[in-house]
Amino acid sequence: MQFPQALETVLQTLERMRAESQHRPCASRSSLDALKQISSLRKIDSLEGHAPSYPKNNLGADSAAPSKTEKADRLAAVQTRVSVCVKCPNLASSRTQTVFGVGNPDADIMFVGEAPGADEDAQGEPFVGRAGQLLTKIIKAMGFPREEVYIANVLKCRPDVPAGSFGNRPPTPREMQTCRPYLMEQIDIIKPKVIVALGAVAVEGLLGTRAPMRELRGRWDSFNGTPLMITYHPAYLLRNQSPSEKRKVWEDMMLVLERLEKPISEKQRNYFL
Ligand code: URA
Repeated sequence: MQFPQALETVLQTLERMRAESQHRPCASRSSLDALKQISSLRKIDSLEGHAPSYPKNNLGADSAAPSKTEKADRLAAVQTRVSVCVKCPNLASSRTQTVFGVGNPDADIMFVGEAPGADEDAQGEPFVGRAGQLLTKIIKAMGFPREEVYIANVLKCRPDVPAGSFGNRPPTPREMQTCRPYLMEQIDIIKPKVIVALGAVAVEGLLGTRAPMRELRGRWDSFNGTPLMITYHPAYLLRNQSPSEKRKVWEDMMLVLERLEKPISEKQRNYFL
């Protein structure tokens, strides 16, 4: 087993023991965080001789950026930890499965939503229900197949609702805070050129701030140095079919295309979702 995978296995076991509360391991939060830090590719690069698969360049600085395969491996390791996460016992016992994320590990654009709904909980993939179909349409109108971008949520579990009730509930601030490190790891591995936050809950999960969407959307923000575009959640567009709201989302997406220096056709400029 290679060092990064071995480290992930240790971390996963410690996290699980901590969460299950019996036989608590003698590892402080700061020790776990330090281990996680070590597992970041750059740190491994600097441990000469420990990471032959990530060679340094001939200037002695960090090696070339991790390949798509390396990113996929690292995401898979995080996904394994997420799949057994029981940090929110209510969600762990109510979910069908965790919903980690989907798409290109080397994506330029990462879309971040709120939390899985019933369809996502059933299928294990984010944004596959009605709102997801609209998101996929938006992505395609931008000129990308869905597989070329990366899609994830702030929360990896469906927020539990009383048995027999319909609909979804928003994640609580505590649930978002608990799940946030996983999203941080996803972003850190993928290193997208642009993040798109879908709706106010995604903004709260990413930035920890709450504000009306009309004040937040349509301008560039930053998430730890990565350009962040805030736009309406597709579910909002399903509730509010007004062409002017749809147009706003599309204008936000054109800003994203411009930022990525992608050509925008005349057809795209005049497009209405
Ligand atoms: N809404 C979200 O925010 N995320 C999903 O995955 C589905 C619906």
